[in-house]
Amino acid sequence: MYIVLLGAPGAGKGTQAELLREKLAIPSVSSGDLFRSAIEAGTELGVKAKEYIDRGELVPDGVTIAMVAERLAQPDCTEGVILDGFPRTVAQAEALDGVLAEMNRRVHAVLYIKVSEDVLLKRLAGRWTCRDCGAIYHEVFGPEKTRGVCDACGGALYQREDDTPETQQRRIAVYLDRTAPLQECYRAKGILIEIDGDQDVDVVHRSVMAAIDSLEGNDTL
Ligand code: ADP
Ligand code: ADP
Ligand code: ZN
Repeated sequence: MYIVLLGAPGAGKGTQAELLREKLAIPSVSSGDLFRSAIEAGTELGVKAKEYIDRGELVPDGVTIAMVAERLAQPDCTEGVILDGFPRTVAQAEALDGVLAEMNRRVHAVLYIKVSEDVLLKRLAGRWTCRDCGAIYHEVFGPEKTRGVCDACGGALYQREDDTPETQQRRIAVYLDRTAPLQECYRAKGILIEIDGDQDVDVVHRSVMAAIDSLEGNDTL
């Protein structure tokens, strides 16, 4: 099953993708994580992407699509994928349809995690991420057991450079301008499912699972 998680920065896409990955036993592919790995590795792609990410802008479609298409061509992606943070533009959505069509696959559902703007800002401001395994914490809503240390792997937690107040505002504005139109595109295709993302992590997870179960109940997969 190919599932897209759509939502503004801070909506909880990464958090829900991880929970879903465990439940569905299919990989989750986060374009943001792929960019951060490229930056860490110092590749040409990483150097180019960093310029945009630090300003809260989208990385251009060409490089983004090529990077995700390469990931989707890996053998672990043939049974399904949870896409977190991709597509973010109409051109990316069209490219995704093309890549999946070539694999004889399609997007089954787009889970739009809807969260009010004041909540988004609180979530981004308190987000901490594990440098080693990428696990996501929140200093108020979901703190680690030992301060600064990842529960899962013992790695050090850090705050993302693009989680500064100015960049957060810019990313939300970019989301509204470039990504929010995808809601209508996918609604028109009949595959958009709205999830109330203002709830606690486990409540949101239950809504996400209920949405997936309802898909599994129909035999169009
Ligand atoms: P968040 O978790 O806050 O939504 P991500 O980790 O998904 O952020 O992405 C971080 C940054 O990486 C984005 O602000 C953007 O600059 C870049 N990025 C990630 N995914 C995409 C994409 N699909 N298209 C263009 N840029 C992207
Ligand atoms: P996104 O990938 O959409 O940018 P994240 O999954 O990184 O969002 O979540 C942003 C921050 O909000 C993280 O610190 C995470 O721990 C926290 N968070 C995620 N979902 C919830 C929730 N339902 N309630 C409270 N905090 C949440
Ligand atoms: Zn970790």
